[in-house]
Amino acid sequence: MRWRGRRTSSNVEDRRGMRGGGGMRMGGRPAGVGCGGLVIALLAAYFLGVDPAAVLQIVSGLEQGGQVAAPQREVSTSTPNDELGQFAATVLADTEDTWNRVFAERGRRYQEPRLVLFSGAVASACGYNSAAVGPFYCPADSKVYLDLSFFDQLERRFGAPGDFAQAYVIAHEVGHHIQNQLGISEHVHRQRQMVSKAQGNQLSVKQELQADCLAGVWAYHAQRDRNLLEPGDLEEGLRAASAIGDDTLQKKAQGYTVPESWTHGSSEQRMTWFARGFQSGDIDVCDTFN
Ligand SMILES: [Zn+2]
Repeated sequence: MRWRGRRTSSNVEDRRGMRGGGGMRMGGRPAGVGCGGLVIALLAAYFLGVDPAAVLQIVSGLEQGGQVAAPQREVSTSTPNDELGQFAATVLADTEDTWNRVFAERGRRYQEPRLVLFSGAVASACGYNSAAVGPFYCPADSKVYLDLSFFDQLERRFGAPGDFAQAYVIAHEVGHHIQNQLGISEHVHRQRQMVSKAQGNQLSVKQELQADCLAGVWAYHAQRDRNLLEPGDLEEGLRAASAIGDDTLQKKAQGYTVPESWTHGSSEQRMTWFARGFQSGDIDVCDTFN
């Protein structure tokens, strides 16, 4: 990828090295609960007959006054100066250029997401997550969360090295942000509450494959408008899409696959949809639901 020396995004929150990824501490009493909160929790527990721990969690959230969701106060928003951080900020910037343009062409305004870099664990509006869940997008705060050590795993555990494999991961998460902007995430969320687990998984697969396709649409524009890809990059992206397919992961973990339990799609499906987006550059080809 020809990424060096290009624009970096100003939408990066660098929370690496912060305890608990900012806003919360691990273990013991929930962070930020004062004596007043403790008293409220105990009173509520006594009069309402509810678990004091549950009340404490709520009180803790209230007392932090949204600090968990928006801890800008203690977060660096300047461009990271390490290589990997700069890389992530550059890929994010390129997704901004792409999606601002694609949305504008459709008469819409693109609201840029933020990218939170963290290490170990992080507090988001979607809860408290360890890096073990992998990169994720939280629709409630419109932020992509990424522990950059995932790129190591991508190379060593999943056998998908290369900068474009990493860019695909970021573009896939940004794809979820596009779905959020277009109201698709909300629609899927509502649908899932009305169907069986197996059907819910199928919906999840469609949503994930669409994010892969949208990552492909980004790659198309990054290539056409800014000549970002080098020979071999597309293969790196496809290898990454294949490496994290449900069948490949299940075979690795348990020796067999259970398609009903898939939530992201098979290796072949993931490669196919990424390639489809890349070939056309048109979000209309990304309708995985019909
Ligand atoms: Zn996803």
